[in-house]
Amino acid sequence: DRYKWEWPSRLATDISEKDNSFVYIEGAFRPDSKRILDLLSGVALYGNPLAAIRELLQNAVDAVKEQIAYERLEDDEPGSSDFSPKWSEFHRIRLSLEEDIDGIWLRCVDNGVGMTKDIIENHLLVSGSAARVSTRTLEREADAKGFAVGRTGQFGVGALSYFMIADRLELTTRRSNHAGDHDHTAWRFTTEGIGSFGELSRASRSTNGTEARLRLRADIFDINTPIFSQISQYILDTVSFLPCRMEFK
Ligand code: ADP
Ligand code: MG
Repeated sequence: DRYKWEWPSRLATDISEKDNSFVYIEGAFRPDSKRILDLLSGVALYGNPLAAIRELLQNAVDAVKEQIAYERLEDDEPGSSDFSPKWSEFHRIRLSLEEDIDGIWLRCVDNGVGMTKDIIENHLLVSGSAARVSTRTLEREADAKGFAVGRTGQFGVGALSYFMIADRLELTTRRSNHAGDHDHTAWRFTTEGIGSFGELSRASRSTNGTEARLRLRADIFDINTPIFSQISQYILDTVSFLPCRMEFK
């Protein structure tokens, strides 16, 4: 079987501004993304659907690393070795499981760099290298000042893998003041993956960072066994090589 591999250049095919506070995005996924998602869901690429948890954590780690890099660029001597904000008490990622009437949610909260509306629309869930421009700029600036950002994401498919284990994604995010753009609105973005309509709206959130909630798929997890016991070993294995301060409950 051969498929047309036309990477979508934008998440949104049609954006209509309903009123000041709500923006609806139609067609969160284009057909080719569906093919990719099928591949991911078929676990062809990842081997294990739990790899989605690693991608979730990795995105949080990358976001905190970017935040640290932006803070570091403001220092007089960002390249000097005695400058070590690295992972402080302040930079953290929290992972938890929550249950409500809609289902069981895996929640990941970071106080990293956060996302602008532009990033949500054009980078998140959109594969391809054209989406990486802002990060490249940060990496170039850091490089010129003698240090590395050290983020690991690069292909832009990590977030797509969330739908291997989830049937709904809810994000609340706010861009850091340290990042050099001017969108400091808090945004809420929700989507149910393939063929669904994504929804983007203004939200209230006073601090920078991202909260991602994934509603776990009942066909992937055994609902009669505590979900924690099904994912805890995978998380422990993953966290052991992630350079972050992690809280898990
Ligand atoms: P990659 O990590 O390879 O860039 P992903 O699909 O994992 O691709 O994520 C796509 C983009 O979404 C990231 O590059 C980043 O801009 C944004 N993103 C995802 N998760 C977060 C997060 N927790 N905080 C800030 N930005 C995020
Ligand atoms: Mg990633």
